[in-house]
Amino acid sequence: MLPAFPDSLREAALGSLERLEVEARTGSVVTEVDADGVSWRPTSVGLQPGGQDAKGGRIEAQTVLWAAGIAASPLTASLGVPLDGVGRVRTESTLTVPGHPNTFVVGDMCALEQDGRWLPGVAQVAKQEGAHSARNILRAIAGQSLERFRYRDYGTMAVIGRGRAVADLGPFKASGFFAWLFWLFLHLFWLIGFRNRLAVMGEWAWAYVTLQRRVRLITGGRRETEKVE
Ligand SMILES: Cc1cc2nc3c(=O)[nH]c(=O)nc-3n(C[C@H](O)[C@H](O)[C@H](O)COP(=O)(O)OP(=O)(O)OC[C@H]3O[C@@H](n4cnc5c(N)ncnc54)[C@H](O)[C@@H]3O)c2cc1C
Repeated sequence: MLPAFPDSLREAALGSLERLEVEARTGSVVTEVDADGVSWRPTSVGLQPGGQDAKGGRIEAQTVLWAAGIAASPLTASLGVPLDGVGRVRTESTLTVPGHPNTFVVGDMCALEQDGRWLPGVAQVAKQEGAHSARNILRAIAGQSLERFRYRDYGTMAVIGRGRAVADLGPFKASGFFAWLFWLFLHLFWLIGFRNRLAVMGEWAWAYVTLQRRVRLITGGRRETEKVE
């Protein structure tokens, strides 16, 4: 769970979920989703407690919510270049496509390893890669060699339910209510303009107190978007 975070915060996140009565199964992958539930198997034998679980199993359910990520844009498949398992382009460290030094790939379509870990598909990575590519394009125009990209991690936060979060900001690590307050403060801080900040703060406070979701998207069979106030 939350592989980008250090162990202490991962355990805190798991604890927060358990307090919300969520039963988390780590070390398992879903192998099939159908109308009556999901089938799963352990990622490697021995990770699940108890012998019978080691083979995997099935959870009957009529409602299944998928939050385990999606594939990259199908555009990448048409490029004829090396891709990873979810269709992202395995770029050079200069963010160029292998064999095509004048083609750059950034953000969610880019698969790049740094210090033995894949860079996460988050906005910070996409922004830094975009800026770096722009600098490399200017260097190429000036006839200079391209520079390797290095991601600077300024910190990661994740919200868990109402009033709990985990925050990993280098030496500063926090979990629980304080981390959640910090998440709120930082997101408001980065908004542009006092009026925006005030409006968002008001909307969040209203949603928190009334337990209402302002917008609900229902897609699929009816092919339309519903807005429920
Ligand atoms: C629900 C959700 C929540 C998230 N929350 C966070 C968060 O809290 N913090 C965080 O850091 N990151 C978050 N992310 C991830 C973050 O949004 C992405 O990592 C980031 O937007 C990637 O930027 P990008 O420019 O690569 O892609 P995008 O922002 O997806 O931009 C790609 C653009 O290209 C367009 N496009 C696609 N195909 C074509 C085509 N063939 N021709 C022309 N245009 C095309 C798309 O319409 C889109 O506008 C979240 C993502 C999701 C889905």
